[in-house]
Amino acid sequence: MSGWPLHVVSRYLTVGTATVDVIDTGIWSMMKGSLLGRSVSAACTGCDQEIGEKTRRDWYSDQDQPEVFEDGLRELRKAAQAHAEVCRAMPAPDGAR
Ligand SMILES: [Zn+2]
Repeated sequence: MSGWPLHVVSRYLTVGTATVDVIDTGIWSMMKGSLLGRSVSAACTGCDQEIGEKTRRDWYSDQDQPEVFEDGLRELRKAAQAHAEVCRAMPAPDGAR
């Protein structure tokens, strides 16, 4: 297995040999082209299940929440690990996705 896809920060191998990827994409301002905040999500490449998503900025109060985000990221990694331990879906062959 060579390089990971862009933005993947953690990866968990599932029972079915797929991966659960934790992806840090950031949140970009369309207007300024600059980074507004961070958003991390986890998804399984075997069954396409979304494991969860955490955002560093609270959009309702417009507040940046680094501590909430770090806790959320830890939770997300645990959830990704837990899914990887039980998911038996196999990844689609190359190019089929
Ligand atoms: Zn899965």
